[in-house]
Amino acid sequence: MNTAESAALELELKQRNWTKAGDEKTADLVLLNTCSVRITAETRLKGRLAYYQSLKKKVLPNTFTLVLAGCMASRLGEKLKKAFSAIDYVMDTDSRAIFPEILEAIELGRKFQASEEKPVFSFSSSHLEEGAFRSFVPIMHGCDNYCSYCIVPYVRGREVSRSPKSIEEEIALLAEKGVREITLLGQNVNSYQYENLDFPGLLHLIAVWIKGSSISWVRFLSANPRDFSAETIKLMAENSCFCRHIHLPVQHGSNNILAAMNRAYTREHYLALIKELRKAMPEISISTDILVGFPGESEEDLLEVLSLMEEVQFLYSYMYHFNPREGTAAYKLPGRIDEKTKRERLSRVIALQKRHTLEQLQKRLGCKEQALIEGISRKNADELICRTEKDEMVVFPGKGDSIGSFMEVQLKSLRGHTFRAVPIV
Ligand code: SF4
Repeated sequence: MNTAESAALELELKQRNWTKAGDEKTADLVLLNTCSVRITAETRLKGRLAYYQSLKKKVLPNTFTLVLAGCMASRLGEKLKKAFSAIDYVMDTDSRAIFPEILEAIELGRKFQASEEKPVFSFSSSHLEEGAFRSFVPIMHGCDNYCSYCIVPYVRGREVSRSPKSIEEEIALLAEKGVREITLLGQNVNSYQYENLDFPGLLHLIAVWIKGSSISWVRFLSANPRDFSAETIKLMAENSCFCRHIHLPVQHGSNNILAAMNRAYTREHYLALIKELRKAMPEISISTDILVGFPGESEEDLLEVLSLMEEVQFLYSYMYHFNPREGTAAYKLPGRIDEKTKRERLSRVIALQKRHTLEQLQKRLGCKEQALIEGISRKNADELICRTEKDEMVVFPGKGDSIGSFMEVQLKSLRGHTFRAVPIV
């Protein structure tokens, strides 16, 4: 989400003819677009702010305007502004619409005065990074789910769905620029609801809008298992534009912990959903998020995570252990797990996932796949790096002029978790 929002802010700057500075010493504006999801990001931000503070005070007095944007601006903005006088403006996720006004004030050499009125969130019209052939398309903002460990609903507020007209306009713009792949974004895309239009209804419209355009692949993130409907599965299966990969965060395998996390689905519901997805699209790959060490988690609960992983066989997982976030319901829960146990449990989950990833990939050797060429390999300038619709990384020999196009390749061998392939001509 932050990448999409950063791209939208960058676009605003470009439209006003701002250009990138070599470094902060020559910049007129330093814009920090922040994310609050992980506590480590907050810690890092304070270090950055201390650096800009000293730079602005001692080395470059009054040279650049420092703007703090994003989730942390919503959560801690005013507190940080008191602690770091170098911050000129705080722009939380709801008040991004004031960015052009801040820029205008800087251009005219005057101070920007924010209005007293509470800002209302509005979607940016484009989130395309310069020269990119893939783009995020936010369809929702905020989240109503209040998972007990998560800070997002407190910093981004309640769910707001974007109008289909605005989504269609952004997609048309992307198609005009030759974009090949879009990812619909939201904290919980399955609960999209704009007047009478729900998520499957929106997917149907998108499949129609992109027909005959440059956009061939559509992904969506994040899908919440509790709201994933049979209609969505049917639409995905019937329309080949929807990539045969789904990221479906399970978070845990134990019903006790899922309930304590307020995830509002059970292990059985999740497994039934996986079964339906695979029945409708046998070739689909599935990835997930797993959170261990939640307060009250027993060894038996952990074994349920491992057994769920065995059952599903995820292609990959984002795995992490619980860190209490002040302001969330889980912060106050009893039964915190000590750091050593959390790390030990996480390492068992990681080891199992590594085995599953390798086994999944090995089974694919010899298969033929369409792949979207993303760029030149960092390890070898004579190789191109690309991604299959199942979200697998592939390299094969080639030159940079085909970047952004699709190529059929045969998966020949593995280097780590990346396929080496040959193009099929
Ligand atoms: S669905 Fe849960 S984890 Fe995801 S953003 Fe909403 S509250 Fe956070």
